[in-house]
Amino acid sequence: MSTESPGAPVHPDAGFDAASPTSPAFADLDLSPALLDALERRGYESPTPIQAQAIPHLLRGRDLLGVAQTGTGKTAAFALPIIQGLVERHKRLQSRRPRVLVLTPTRELASQISASFDAYSKRLPVCSTVVFGGVGKMPQIRAMRRGVDVLVATPGRLLDLMQQREVDLSRIEVFVLDEADRMLDMGFVRDVRRVLEQLPDERQSLLFSATMPEDIVQLSKTLLRDPLRVEVTPPSTTVELIEQRVCFVEKPDKRPLLARILQDNTIERALVFTRTKHGADKVARYLHRGGIRAAALHGNKTQGARERALDMFRAGRLRVLVATDIAARGLDVPGITHVINYDLPNMPESYVHRIGRTARAGKDGIAISFCDSSERTYLKAIQREIRRTLEVMGELPPEPKRAAPPLKRPAATSSRRRVRRRRTRRRAY
Ligand code: AMP
Repeated sequence: MSTESPGAPVHPDAGFDAASPTSPAFADLDLSPALLDALERRGYESPTPIQAQAIPHLLRGRDLLGVAQTGTGKTAAFALPIIQGLVERHKRLQSRRPRVLVLTPTRELASQISASFDAYSKRLPVCSTVVFGGVGKMPQIRAMRRGVDVLVATPGRLLDLMQQREVDLSRIEVFVLDEADRMLDMGFVRDVRRVLEQLPDERQSLLFSATMPEDIVQLSKTLLRDPLRVEVTPPSTTVELIEQRVCFVEKPDKRPLLARILQDNTIERALVFTRTKHGADKVARYLHRGGIRAAALHGNKTQGARERALDMFRAGRLRVLVATDIAARGLDVPGITHVINYDLPNMPESYVHRIGRTARAGKDGIAISFCDSSERTYLKAIQREIRRTLEVMGELPPEPKRAAPPLKRPAATSSRRRVRRRRTRRRAY
């Protein structure tokens, strides 16, 4: 299964520093002709900063601490040298004993990373697979039994399969811990430690994290040996491309306001963020009832439902996706014209992350944030983080002719029944 579009090249200004005349070309990074070929086929012209800085060192087996987030090209930064290393140290496929483990917090990210490995190693003898929860285990077990070089996994399902002895980590040569900060936020710290205990001491380790709170610093000290530290900060350039506005609105008025904003047909594809899963469901249902093609994306949805929603959103059959932070983390959907923060995030970095879902591929994007009186402190923190004051949203589109329907459907059937009963009574007289 593939939910990524690793083929969509990113404009150099979209989150990466523009390539300078002195920045290296892929051919300068010691990559093999087969990989250079794959990159050319994907339309990648030059390496992103994290790729240029990390690839030569990773090829030499160095550990890496990457302070970077999705959108910087970090997946290729680790996938390319890993693939090349696997091909150079070619060994027979050993069933249930992968040689590379990439641990990532969400199913969507796991799928995207696995799709990237497949894309870059298409013509090479490297086999990768992905395991995550929420779907049947058997196909994953069968894939493991057939033999796999690169295993991309979320922690829960990985531990499950390890307990069932379907995965054996004793031959891991390279370990990648992706989105480490998010992994800890999601409460996976104990799971990560249990996985680490099973890894051989002799290995190359890479840790990626968008932020570096103290617990990640500590984790990196136990995990990495003399790592190269590469730090890239895409938000600054991305954020500049985005028109950002705030709309002061009280909680009960948020839903009608959203419906009103979405009347605007220039909003081709909008990603709406809510704080809770329940909130995402409520907003998506409300929009749907008002005739707006919308669906919710969050961790309580089945894997099938999440994939369907994402596929429809990508294909343009859904105009609005209402998501929680965790579900939307790392989503690489081209053509998102608007990001709407229905609820403001309590972490300013999340704001940067969220709005970075638009203005990808060098395009402009618009971010609209709703702020109720309880969210003023969040807004202040965000403005401090991005070092600018958000423009207050001006005139709104006119009220829709038909107001969006209330959340609870009037009990149509029972009232109809009552009318019918009254009529029958009347007739009886
Ligand atoms: P990532 O940060 O790994 O999630 O990558 C974000 C997007 O950038 C993906 O769609 C990649 O296909 C794309 N990408 C990665 N490296 C490059 C590159 N050197 N040139 C153009 N696009 C790239």
